Amino acid sequence: MKAIKLQGFGGTEQLKLEETDKPKIKADEILVAVKASAINRADIEKRKGNYPSSDFDPVLGLEIAGVVEEAGPEASGWLKGDRVFGLIPSGGYAEYAVINSKLAMSIPDELTYEQAAAVPEVFLTAYQTLHWLGELKQGETVLIHAGASGVGTAAIQLAKQAGATVAVTAGSQEKLDFCKDLGADITINYKKEDFAERLADTGADVILDFVGAPYWDQNIKTLKTDGRMVLIGFLGGTELENVSIMPLLAKRLHVKGTLLSTRTIDYKASLTADLIDNVLPLFETESIKPIVDKVFPLEQVADAHDYMESNKNTGKIVLRVAE
Ligand code: NAP
Repeated sequence: MKAIKLQGFGGTEQLKLEETDKPKIKADEILVAVKASAINRADIEKRKGNYPSSDFDPVLGLEIAGVVEEAGPEASGWLKGDRVFGLIPSGGYAEYAVINSKLAMSIPDELTYEQAAAVPEVFLTAYQTLHWLGELKQGETVLIHAGASGVGTAAIQLAKQAGATVAVTAGSQEKLDFCKDLGADITINYKKEDFAERLADTGADVILDFVGAPYWDQNIKTLKTDGRMVLIGFLGGTELENVSIMPLLAKRLHVKGTLLSTRTIDYKASLTADLIDNVLPLFETESIKPIVDKVFPLEQVADAHDYMESNKNTGKIVLRVAE
């Protein structure tokens, strides 16, 4: 099969299209003929050797959509030819990939393979951080940073479905307009405005943060009493200086860090089951949609990484692996 093999840690020149053996499945796994995969920030960090839990992954790619080629004896219910999508630990940038049957979902009829590939990582993360970790309730206010990111665009839609007021930050008017069209109620250009000042009256019950250290003070200021902040990424940095922990006590704040990739299969399986029950029906009724910014053919994966690293995307960047 054809696959993009990472030659070593480094720049996009390390991503090379090569012929390699098809992966083999275990009893509870499914071999998928991949139609589409998608790019994640984690792929870029893994390529550079900067990922928090990094082993060397010769084939990157955390999510796939395609067709069942072979199902192991314990992967019950799956037949050759079924349309399948979901989260995988690695190996998505290839013509064949392996998915654990507990993480495999049937692609809703309404979604193409390219749309389906844009769903697993960002909708699972958005659902987990809004509901499981952020404990968002109807009528509460949620602040979603990097609102036009893959996770951000998923989170805006899920938060509106949950009946929340949604505030977002992003770095351009174009991205903010896109977030507004998705349902965001308050849009803030973080390059021109201090979001803590803008939200001084409203406050936030829940914050989804991807930026980290540079936003710490403003986030803590913005959280209401009993507020919850979920730290999902640290695009802006990790080191804090001269920080008072007083407000954590005074406002009874909860700050939770999370990393989906290192969770157990059983945790991911429960989250996948929740997505199947609570989110996939919303795609079927077109109440929410996958946000695909751009589709690159597999062999142009280096351009796709460059595109994400230059913060150009709104929503997901998809890789087309096969027609
Ligand atoms: P994405 O689509 O690549 O979007 C990231 C956006 O963040 C950029 O387009 C940029 O938009 C904004 N940004 C970048 N650097 C920034 C900075 N220094 N300050 C403020 N904004 C900045 O990202 P994604 O795939 O949705 O992922 C978002 C984050 O979540 C990443 O850090 C990723 O690693 C993380 N993530 C974590 C988990 C987990 O389990 N912990 C799971 C999935 C994703 P603007 O133009 O608006 O600046």
